[in-house]
Amino acid sequence: MSNFGITVLGTASAVPIADRNPSAQVLNVHGRLFLIDCGEGTQQQFRRFHQSFLKVEAIFISHIHGDHCLGIFGLLSTMAMYGRTAPLSIFAPRSFGPVLKFYMSYFGEDLSYQVEHVALDAKEPKEIYRSGELVVSAFPLNHKIECFGFRFCYKERYSYAYCSDTAPFPELAQWVKDVDILYHEATYTRAFADKAGPRFHSVTDDAARCALEAGARKLVIGHYSSRIRDISQFESECKEIFDNTVAANDGDVFEIC
Ligand SMILES: [Zn+2]
Ligand SMILES: [Zn+2]
Repeated sequence: MSNFGITVLGTASAVPIADRNPSAQVLNVHGRLFLIDCGEGTQQQFRRFHQSFLKVEAIFISHIHGDHCLGIFGLLSTMAMYGRTAPLSIFAPRSFGPVLKFYMSYFGEDLSYQVEHVALDAKEPKEIYRSGELVVSAFPLNHKIECFGFRFCYKERYSYAYCSDTAPFPELAQWVKDVDILYHEATYTRAFADKAGPRFHSVTDDAARCALEAGARKLVIGHYSSRIRDISQFESECKEIFDNTVAANDGDVFEIC
């Protein structure tokens, strides 16, 4: 088992399709698990890819669009059915507060554990969590609504950055400088570039340029538009700019150390 790596649980964008779930990833830090985003169906993806959602210590939600957070209600309820007692921190934008309140008011009565919402607030990379040899920072992305990226550093030597969803902006490459693996959304291929701007998303070239400028070791892309079913096109376009690119599929595992 790796000491530090991710399992991708979902690579679809706005809507789930037959072989792709919306965004979610499990970060494994020496056997400790952390969940990044929680699109619809995330708890089934945990089972499908043999990960234990009961072990999740904290959850990091980038923003309150359904494809990044609609799976959280089911997950919280199932954790309670299995008798979870460990408190759970959810790092998410301020706007998650009323969402969690709604859930708790209807479904939270018998919750066997405490859920704490830690509201994100960062204008530039800012440490939000530290535990053992893991340090997590959050930074703002450029999306339609308030949205954050995360950088996870292990033993001060290895790092993973998660950037979804975002339009390109100049500071981002500096904020993810020298990262081992950069996950960057690539919702569209070049042919659909006109769709990206108004939706505050990236195309392949944006993700690849960010990886190149940041000096990342590897680029992993996902969050594909359901208009484009052949993802090899995403990967080949990125590779023209940044060779070490992988277009992720649901269930892919990427190990850093
Ligand atoms: Zn999204
Ligand atoms: Zn979004």
